[in-house]
Amino acid sequence: MRIGLIHVAQETNDFNPELTTLRDYESFGLHLGADVVDKCGGMGQVGGHLAAITESGLSVETVPIVRAHAVAGGRVDTASRRYFLDVIARGLEAAGRLDGLHLQLHGACAAEGLDDVEGEQAELCREILGPNVPILLGLDHHANVTARMVASVDAIVGHRTQPHDPFDTGLIGMRLLLRMVQEKLSPVIAMRKIPLVTHQEKFLTAHGPMKAWFDRAREMEKDPRVLQAAPFPMQPWLDVEEGGWTAVVVTDGDRALAERLADELADHAWSLRDAFLEREAIGVDEAVRMADAEPAGVVVLSDTGDTVFGGSAGDSNLLLESMLRQKIRGPVLMPMIAPKVVARLFEAGEGATVTLPVGGETASRFFSPLEVTGTVRRLGEGPVRIAGYQHGEVDMGRTAVFEVGPVTMLISELRGVAGNLPDVYRAYGIEPTDYKMAVLKTASNFQFFAPITSRVIRADTAGPGQSDVYTLPWSRLPRPIYPLETFTDRTVSRS
Ligand SMILES: [Zn+2]
Repeated sequence: MRIGLIHVAQETNDFNPELTTLRDYESFGLHLGADVVDKCGGMGQVGGHLAAITESGLSVETVPIVRAHAVAGGRVDTASRRYFLDVIARGLEAAGRLDGLHLQLHGACAAEGLDDVEGEQAELCREILGPNVPILLGLDHHANVTARMVASVDAIVGHRTQPHDPFDTGLIGMRLLLRMVQEKLSPVIAMRKIPLVTHQEKFLTAHGPMKAWFDRAREMEKDPRVLQAAPFPMQPWLDVEEGGWTAVVVTDGDRALAERLADELADHAWSLRDAFLEREAIGVDEAVRMADAEPAGVVVLSDTGDTVFGGSAGDSNLLLESMLRQKIRGPVLMPMIAPKVVARLFEAGEGATVTLPVGGETASRFFSPLEVTGTVRRLGEGPVRIAGYQHGEVDMGRTAVFEVGPVTMLISELRGVAGNLPDVYRAYGIEPTDYKMAVLKTASNFQFFAPITSRVIRADTAGPGQSDVYTLPWSRLPRPIYPLETFTDRTVSRS
């Protein structure tokens, strides 16, 4: 049995104006052909794919085509979009006869002038492979599942947890694809759009309404006729024509059952819609004071509006401004993505004292530059090795450690993983446990700092990834959509 493997993933934030380019993919490793397995074999979704083959005991040849990942960010530029279409087309044409395709995409990727990048990619795969080769599509559960995706593939699986476990998604996806090929299953997909967009606070699947919704999907999968039940709570920064949450149910040949369960899964989310909208972030000044008053660290201060893992630009200075104005004790670790600042600090050199504006380089709709004076402690560049991370190493571009009063800033050219993993600081000679607070550019992915975290405080900051969906500058979402409009009928017609 020969199975093609394609992995291309980026999550788009429409409120970050900076386009995502091939360099953003290259900073997480862009691998083609045999390198896909050689470089990423044990990790992430590719690792899960391979583990499913091993546990099956079947003789399966993986035909790897591409593995590319970029951190969430602005829309993908046309050059990258065309590049991946070309890589996919050439890879599938050169692959020879395939018995199936394991297509691992994100599902919330938009490009310049195109809302549904993955729909285009999935359709291309179907065109090349024809109607008879099963295609299994694995998606991030923040995906915006579209009619074009559903029409182009045979089955869809989604991440089962937030924080995500991509290995698990690769494993369940490949298990299902192997069954589809071996047992000649006839999967049917039912999809329901849910007119809902919510703040980010309730996305974790371990608690509250999101746990209830995902548990319901797992219950449905106990019926052997159900191949997959997948909730897709779209991430709240994708401003696209078909945007909104989705419920997907895949059954083996039972159309009526799939349609009924998809309705049930959608109704369940809809019934919880107000619970999904509860907030827990606190005001910026209060969050800063609260963190500074803690007896010991490391207090994680989540810069929710500037979440780089949610596609923000990473150039917020709102917490920095509050810390300096309130004359906190700290010490604090804080990342910032600011190529112009990095250039100035490299010009000045290690040991120099520099006064310059920082912040608002990219997301100028949300932030204005703040003038600060600090000392350049260290300069560096090149890939940073991160133990146990699904990408192995990450290139942050040129990076400067810049001390501004009680704040140690790690300012980089590329967004990479911002300062969301302690090893990024360690690569620059900084031990995070020596600090009272660490500002994280994520609103959900606290797992990497968790072993050294004393407390998590979410600051209600503005920015391209802000939690407040009401004031984001939406222009393309179909309306009405809850809670931007208030209504009670989930099946309301939208335009
Ligand atoms: Zn996600």
